[in-house]
Amino acid sequence: MSVLSSLDPEISEAIGLELGRQREKLELIASENITSPAVLEAVGSILTNKYAEGYPGHRHYGGCEFVDQVENLARDRAKKLFGCEWANVQPHAGSQANMAVLFTILKPGEKLLGMDLAHGGHLTHGASASFSGKFFDVSHYGVSRETEMLDYDEIARIARETKPKLIIAGASAYSRIIDFKAFRRIADEVGALLMVDMAHIAGLVATGLHPTPVYEADFVTSTTHKTLRGPRGGLILIGKEKENTLGIKAAKSGRTRTFGELIDSMVMPGIQGGPLMHVIAGKAVAFKEAMTPEFAEYQARVLKNAKRLCAALKTGGARIVSGGTDNHMMLVDVTPFGLTGKEAELALDAANITANKNGIPFDTKGPLVTSGIRLGSPALTTRGMGEAEMDEVGALILEVLRSKGDAAVATRVKGEVLKLCSRFPIYN
Ligand SMILES: *Cc1c(COP(=O)(O)O)cnc(C)c1O
Repeated sequence: MSVLSSLDPEISEAIGLELGRQREKLELIASENITSPAVLEAVGSILTNKYAEGYPGHRHYGGCEFVDQVENLARDRAKKLFGCEWANVQPHAGSQANMAVLFTILKPGEKLLGMDLAHGGHLTHGASASFSGKFFDVSHYGVSRETEMLDYDEIARIARETKPKLIIAGASAYSRIIDFKAFRRIADEVGALLMVDMAHIAGLVATGLHPTPVYEADFVTSTTHKTLRGPRGGLILIGKEKENTLGIKAAKSGRTRTFGELIDSMVMPGIQGGPLMHVIAGKAVAFKEAMTPEFAEYQARVLKNAKRLCAALKTGGARIVSGGTDNHMMLVDVTPFGLTGKEAELALDAANITANKNGIPFDTKGPLVTSGIRLGSPALTTRGMGEAEMDEVGALILEVLRSKGDAAVATRVKGEVLKLCSRFPIYN
């Protein structure tokens, strides 16, 4: 940091403060993780200097022989890691991966069925504030009021009624296994294509701890920075490459193009320009890391830790949406503590515990207030914390929530958090 600190002390200082925050706070945001020094080195590399519009072997710029190596490695590793025939590693983020698939399959005004944002879906699954809600004719499914889990009969009923061209499965705030086979059956019944967005669970999928969507979905999208623990970025996969079923042919030869070819051209030039080659290098490193036994062991601990934290909170009087977790996250209804999600987030932050407020299904409060918080185990597990620490973290969270944000309690808990963080240091 020495060059940066002398040239731009303001930015350098902000980065230093952020490093301190990451070191000294318990990161429970379910979509965040702590990437490896090797990934950071790749992302901070001179590859950022290179323009490489196009794909390996077919670029619009000269001098791409080495970035071609990088992108080929990233694509091959992604395919191997997830058992796919085709991969595109260029989307700048998960939202761009979804945009590329949606714009490939749907013309403006065509029908899309996705999970309701208010029930745990993502913005890009048809929320009105997102491009996905503005360009397409959207219907939503949610979770059942009784079980707070996906009800596949109900999703099938909505699909029959609305006849979508594309169904999206996947979520940002759903703690249960998603049955991709059920989604496939529904899509087949109504003649829809199926996209699975595995942004949150990609690390679990990569290690066989959540059923893989690659055999059921026509398209799989993901981020690379959540449970997968790579750099911030997006990814699109196709399990079995095939001719597109939309009747789109190549202009010159008249040959029916494959879905992969269509998505490649939608990513670039359709919605993006030059790929972020430094980030693609970071993705390649992360895919390599994800193929190691250590990573499989890490994901197994992510699951165990989430279950343990969930049990600790439940025992202490918290209401867990759907009653538990099968993955790395849980949604906690904080109304039994007389708090809103917003108040809980602020109270926890004062005690050096970072979480996000989150709507719960059928929430009576608005998205800026909410009745819940979302908690995840990936980042704490990366620090090396285990089940004993989850008991401790659960007790600290309960203490803060029960105190309703009392300042003296926050100070005491903060002291405990600092001790815990120093026992499990990062980036030393
Ligand atoms: C996080 C997330 C995304 C998009 O991520 P960005 O990289 O922030 O654009 C897409 N889908 C789901 C389900 C997510 O949870």
